[in-house]
Amino acid sequence: MSERALPAYIGLGSNLDSPRAHVTRALDELDSLPLTRLACHSSLYASSPVGPQDQPDFVNAVARLETRLSPLALLDQLQALEQRHRRIRKRRWGPRTLDLDLLCYATLRWQTPRLILPHPAMRERGFVLVPLAEIAPELLLDGDTAASLAVPHQGRDLRRLVP
Ligand code: AMP
Repeated sequence: MSERALPAYIGLGSNLDSPRAHVTRALDELDSLPLTRLACHSSLYASSPVGPQDQPDFVNAVARLETRLSPLALLDQLQALEQRHRRIRKRRWGPRTLDLDLLCYATLRWQTPRLILPHPAMRERGFVLVPLAEIAPELLLDGDTAASLAVPHQGRDLRRLVP
């Protein structure tokens, strides 16, 4: 466990059973994780599904945590939270009640079968980059700011939801 709290960014997504409610509840639950507090979160966004199109749109958001959990302990907590939302995984990229991705943990680079940091797909995903740029425009991902990476995705297949 780290001595001091470190920043970690979490991508949230849901497209089943009242997705907005799942994401909103998950934000509160992130704030209640041990040794962790929710520093801030983005607006909620609606996005078109990646992969199979015969499923509902997703609701997405990004949260910034301050945590003293190690990266793997945090991943354990995120996966337990997904289970509590009774995540249903029938097929890859299929519908799910709650998906939580650990996008980055401080400036750590990590490559194991269970955890890759930064999250390998985050540079390509508008539903991650646009909410991330809202709360951390200057965050550097391999030398590029979140704001610059988000530009090509602004307004494409992504709709900011009014509170
Ligand atoms: P997914 O179905 O896309 O949420 O992928 C979940 C799997 O990816 C789990 O087996 C995790 O151990 C693994 N994984 C690897 N890196 C990460 C990461 N940065 N955040 C979340 N899950 C990860």
